[in-house]
Amino acid sequence: MTSQDGFETLAIHAGQEPDPLTGAVVPPIYQVSTYKQDGVGGLRGGYEYSRSANPTRTALEQCLAALEDGSAALAFASGLAAEDCLLRTVCSAGDLVLIPDDAYGGTYRLFDQVLAGWGLDYSVVPMSDLAAVREQLAARPVSCVWVETPTNPLLNIADIRGLAQAAHEAGAMLVVDNTFASPYLQQPLRLGADAVVHSTTKYLGGHSDVVGGAVVVADAELAARIAFTQNATGSVAGPFDSWLTLRGIKTLAARMDRHCRNALRIAQMLAEHPAVAEVMYPGLPSHPGHKIAQEQMRAFGGMVSFRMLAGEEAAVRTCGRTRLFTLGESLGGVESLIEHPHRMTHASVAGSVLEVPGDLIRLSVGIEDCDDLIHDLRQAL
Ligand SMILES: *Cc1c(COP(=O)(O)O)cnc(C)c1O
Repeated sequence: MTSQDGFETLAIHAGQEPDPLTGAVVPPIYQVSTYKQDGVGGLRGGYEYSRSANPTRTALEQCLAALEDGSAALAFASGLAAEDCLLRTVCSAGDLVLIPDDAYGGTYRLFDQVLAGWGLDYSVVPMSDLAAVREQLAARPVSCVWVETPTNPLLNIADIRGLAQAAHEAGAMLVVDNTFASPYLQQPLRLGADAVVHSTTKYLGGHSDVVGGAVVVADAELAARIAFTQNATGSVAGPFDSWLTLRGIKTLAARMDRHCRNALRIAQMLAEHPAVAEVMYPGLPSHPGHKIAQEQMRAFGGMVSFRMLAGEEAAVRTCGRTRLFTLGESLGGVESLIEHPHRMTHASVAGSVLEVPGDLIRLSVGIEDCDDLIHDLRQAL
């Protein structure tokens, strides 16, 4: 592959040359733990043990690096494993990380209930407010700024380029959780971020059949340090999971186009619906982050959140009444999902500053016939 190849080409071919031995057009599942050495230390292609490296995982990592325009990627057993490995590589006890005021609940739990116990401090900041972030950066030394955009579940937008500049001026690194956008819609490394993390469980995998994570970085030396931690702590993606994720990635662009189209129509329908108090979708011109989203994203994604006028119980009842939207956690698969963040995905932030409203419903809009989806939502509302 060359750097001139377009996104759709890279998704299908990067890291995926036909197998030199058989010509197999997709990388085989190397379901193997160890490799024959040609004499002591005589490794074939650098493979010695599958915690350190596995050819199916290598194929996925090379593809992810190409899609995010990074120098290297590392594939993990889950998104949280990727986050944990990155943070343990770049931070030490006593460091401070700025995190968003509506981070993914599991990310907040990792900071608050795991890494805090090892001396890593965090401070919560509204990342869509660049001035507030600058103020925190000026107040005391910060090692890392952690941002999601769009956020989960409130779909807030942060200015990646502005945050990268502010972080770098203060000597901090910028990490972007790019799970909601996927590299097809947004490439944070190109906007100045130092590292991108993914839950590949979501849009990259795309079929609700595999859990995985990734870190992609621009700097090769940083990649080597993260690879060292990954090998030392062991949270790698297995060969079959890597293969499933790679299979999903091949259709990422085609799926995302449809996710975005369906989500925009649904957001427009909800915005007009009498039972709905507010719609959060960065593709609506009324969204406070619409302009920045337009600048840094190709389109606005497949996630739509909205608040029910009649309150929490009405939201819970609506979640139980859909036929096509399946009530469930997670997102980014071809099938549409509906959920109540306050009691489901974000139950772990209840009572914290990150608590989400009880009247909120989150949709992961799938790629079904959009008329069917709209009909389903209308009858549930
Ligand atoms: C799901 C998710 C994660 C965590 O990923 P897992 O694969 O579930 O460990 C992190 N960030 C965001 C934005 C997510 O949606």
